[in-house]
Amino acid sequence: MIKEHVKCLIIGSGPAGYTAAIYAARAEMKPVMYAGLQPGGQLTETTEVENFPGYPEGIQGPEMMMEFRAQAERFGTDIRDGLATEAFLNETPKRILIEDKAEITADTVIISTGASAKWLGLESEERLKSGGVSACAVCDGFFYRNQDVVVVGAGDSACEEAMYLAKLCKNVTMLVRKEEFRASKIMVQRTIDTENITVMFNTETVEVLGDQVVEGIKYKNNKTNEEGVISATGFFLAIGHKPNTDIFKGQLDMDNIGYLNVTPGTTKTNIPGVYAAGDCADKNYRQAVTAAGTGCMSALDAERFLADNGIH
Ligand code: NDP
Repeated sequence: MIKEHVKCLIIGSGPAGYTAAIYAARAEMKPVMYAGLQPGGQLTETTEVENFPGYPEGIQGPEMMMEFRAQAERFGTDIRDGLATEAFLNETPKRILIEDKAEITADTVIISTGASAKWLGLESEERLKSGGVSACAVCDGFFYRNQDVVVVGAGDSACEEAMYLAKLCKNVTMLVRKEEFRASKIMVQRTIDTENITVMFNTETVEVLGDQVVEGIKYKNNKTNEEGVISATGFFLAIGHKPNTDIFKGQLDMDNIGYLNVTPGTTKTNIPGVYAAGDCADKNYRQAVTAAGTGCMSALDAERFLADNGIH
C-alpha cells in the first residue's frame, strides 16, 4: 500500500475535479487526483454537449472530459485510478483511504465526487442510453425538437424537465407511478396547465422499445394492469439523483439527500481545509459549466487555506 502526504488531494474527476486540478497545479500545489469509478464523471455518459461555452460546434461529452484531463495533466496534476473508500477528515492532516491501494494524508482535500442520476434498471433503458434515453432534459432536450417524448418521475425535477421539454417538443407524456405528484404545488399546477403535457398516473414503464434508437415506451397501469405503448423518440428519467458522498457521512454537513453543505459563495465545508465542488454540493444547477466554476473556486479556497496556515 502506498503511503504518501500531499498538499492537495482531489477526489473525483468530472468537470469540477479537473478544473480544480488545473488551478491547483498552476498554483504549484502539486495536486494528486483519484479519478474514481467513472473517470470523467457523468459527462462520459452523454453524447453531444452544446451548451459549454467555447465549443461553438458542440463536442462529445467523453471527448470534452479528455481535454479537461489533458489540461490538468499539462500543468502537472498526478491523476491516478482509484476510488476513495474511507475518509478521516477530522484528523490533522486529513487521511483518505483509496481502496486497499493507498493511504493518503493531505493538507487540503477537494471533494468533487459528483452525483449519479437514478435509473429504473431496465435492460432496454441501459441499451438505449446513447439512443434517446437520457437523465438530463437541459443537456439533451434540444435533439427532440418537435418530437414526442416521455418523462418519468413526479418530483420537482420531473415537472421542471417536462416543462422544459414542452417548450421544445410536440408532446410530453409524464409517467407517474403513484396517484399523485410529489412535487411542490406550484410546480404541479404549472405542469398540468401546460397544454402539451399529458400526465398518466399509476403508470410504470415496462420497456423502452427500439433497436438502436427509442421508438416508443411500453407502460402498465399498476391499478388495472392494463398495458399500452406511447410512441416517442426520447425517454427522460427524472427520478432523482444521488450525490456520491456516503463516505463523508457523520463528518461533513450535508442535507437529507446527501448533498454537501458549503458556506454560500464559497466551497468551504464545515471542516477547514476541506472543500466541495460540483454536483456533490449542488442539487439545483448540476451543469458542467457550474461544476467547473465551483472547481475553480475550490482550488482558490484551498490555496488560501495553505497560505493562511503557512504551508508551502
Ligand atoms: P425527488 O426525490 O423529489 O422525486 C423523485 C421522484 O421520482 C418521485 O416522484 C418518485 O416517485 C419518482 N421515482 C423514484 N423512483 C422511481 C421509479 N423507480 N419509477 C418511477 N418513479 C420513481 O427528486 P427530484 O430530483 O425531483 O428533487 C430532488 C430535490 O430537489 C427535491 O427536494 C426537490 O424539491 C428539489 N428540486 C427543486 C426544484 C425547484 O424548486 N425548482 C427543481 C428540482 C429539484 P414517488 O413520488 O412515487 O416516490
